[in-house]
Amino acid sequence: MESVLFDEDHEAYREVVQEFVKRHVVPNMDKWDADRLIDRDVWLAAGRQGLLGLSVPEEYGGAGELDYRFRVIVMLELARVGASSLQSGFTTNDDIALNYLLRHADEEQRKRWLHGFVTGETIGAIAMTEPGAGSDLRGIKATAVRDGDDWVLNGTKTFITNGILSDLVIVFARTGDGSGSKDFSLFVVEEGMPGFSRGRKLDKVGLHAQDTAELFFDNVRVPQRNLLGEIGGGFPYLMQSLPLERLGIAIAAQASAEAVLDWTLDYVREREAFGRRIADFQAVGFKLAELRTAIEVSRAYIDRCVLEYNAGTLTAVDAAKAKLHATELQHEVIDAGVQLHGGYGYMMEYPVAKAFVDARIQRIYGGTNEVMKEIIQRDLIGRRPS
Ligand SMILES: Cc1cc2nc3c(=O)[nH]c(=O)nc-3n(C[C@H](O)[C@H](O)[C@H](O)COP(=O)(O)OP(=O)(O)OC[C@H]3O[C@@H](n4cnc5c(N)ncnc54)[C@H](O)[C@@H]3O)c2cc1C
Repeated sequence: MESVLFDEDHEAYREVVQEFVKRHVVPNMDKWDADRLIDRDVWLAAGRQGLLGLSVPEEYGGAGELDYRFRVIVMLELARVGASSLQSGFTTNDDIALNYLLRHADEEQRKRWLHGFVTGETIGAIAMTEPGAGSDLRGIKATAVRDGDDWVLNGTKTFITNGILSDLVIVFARTGDGSGSKDFSLFVVEEGMPGFSRGRKLDKVGLHAQDTAELFFDNVRVPQRNLLGEIGGGFPYLMQSLPLERLGIAIAAQASAEAVLDWTLDYVREREAFGRRIADFQAVGFKLAELRTAIEVSRAYIDRCVLEYNAGTLTAVDAAKAKLHATELQHEVIDAGVQLHGGYGYMMEYPVAKAFVDARIQRIYGGTNEVMKEIIQRDLIGRRPS
């Protein structure tokens, strides 16, 4: 059963994206992995091809395209070639950093920042997590204190996607004593602000080309005009933006599971043992049948979430279910894919092996899957007494 999401406009856009992937992504992926960094040229090329900042309104140089199915096409085509690091960079940029700006930036800020997200000249990051606090963001220590017309920002953030390349970082910091939900705010820190520095590129299990990094803020004077939204708005803004972040992760997971199953099918149809194709063993065929069924059923749910997002009705709880289910399925499919490739599944030159290490983070970031279950069970049962 095919996805019911797309019409001919999306299919025409798919051709543009496929051409971009063929010319600018596939030839560079090994180099990016070796460099532990994706070069800026691909961002600029993506900007020229209309792959970035689609939802930026026309008056700021964008397409004003609010149909999220075009973003889904980009994710599907990147997954098809296993470009997970670029995928996570683009998602952080478009579905997270840009989403915060579109929701909360004032007119002057929109004029300053939005256009660069369309051209690929501005790469965005979101810095919430700290060495001592990830799931429980109320535990962050970064502070911003008012001083004249500025805010003085101090703290350390870690695991920040696009951490090295980013020109603009949205930083989640305490502006109160941290005891209430109105004690947190968002600040936009820009490259070159004195006191803002980047640590090492973190050495990760997978997503090798992704420049995940530590960021340091040492008495950074952030002007009032770089406050995003209202003082005290940080937590509610996070809650409003998380459904799209989680939907993006779910779609990337679903797309990756579908791609890996295709690679695995190709492999077991070719490889022979005991005088027949691996695919001809019933145990293998049954496994593939189970996975294919699970993928199609999952896709129906994700497709529906995409349509709900377009309609403005996707709830945080349903986005959590999508993220939980799709990332667990991705894990199951890739693990089986590695197994069915035998020893070759453990060789990094095979895309299934790269997918295996790249996918592990999907159940951790964007809120761990345990946190997703917490959100879903709270909706089902209610909050536990503390
Ligand atoms: C490659 C990568 C990229 C990332 N990108 C970004 C980024 O761009 N920006 C950003 O801000 N962050 C980013 N993160 C951080 C990521 O979102 C956090 O690592 C994640 O939210 C988990 O937080 P933590 O690491 O502090 O784990 P912890 O919160 O310490 O969790 C440890 C374990 O405890 C479990 N746990 C915690 N609370 C509960 C609970 N209530 N019930 C049950 N179990 C619980 C967790 O599920 C987990 O298994 C990234 C991380 C990685 C590794």
